[in-house]
Amino acid sequence: MSEINIIRLVEHLPWNPKRPTWPRKRDIASVDKVILHQSAGRADPSGNRDVFGINRYHIGPNHISAAGCPHICYHFSLDDDGSIYLCNDLTDVTWHCGPQNTLSIGVMLVGDFAGPGHEGGEPTAAQDQAFMVLAEHLMNTLGLPPSAFFGHCDFGKPACPGNTAYGWLKSL
Ligand SMILES: [Zn+2]
Repeated sequence: MSEINIIRLVEHLPWNPKRPTWPRKRDIASVDKVILHQSAGRADPSGNRDVFGINRYHIGPNHISAAGCPHICYHFSLDDDGSIYLCNDLTDVTWHCGPQNTLSIGVMLVGDFAGPGHEGGEPTAAQDQAFMVLAEHLMNTLGLPPSAFFGHCDFGKPACPGNTAYGWLKSL
């Protein structure tokens, strides 16, 4: 089993000053699934697609909330160099997948990847490896089976997380 190095960014990623906490908390035992995303076009106005840029986008006025979300809407982000960032505590109910928010952990791949109806590139080999290590960690620590892993496309967003990353879920 690969050792996992999770970099905690919960306090380092700025929070929305108008909404500095997530309004709902949950018991970790209520988590029954993990949902994989890509950041796609969710860049801030300067074009940054790194995790800080995505956070800036989420805490400002955006497609999810006119007042901005409290914080980046994913629990984990996987950077293209394979870094695994914890962005929110797993007990926070974040806004990444509509009705699934209460029950799921959101994992986001930084990048813009090809999927149904969406042109883009491919995730890196380092992201692939990081995802596999994180998935194994979540299965071990939360007692989740491989069948608990989904793509956002399974809940109505066809191009998320993209063809290649969706294939990873099938290989767990
Ligand atoms: Zn998504």
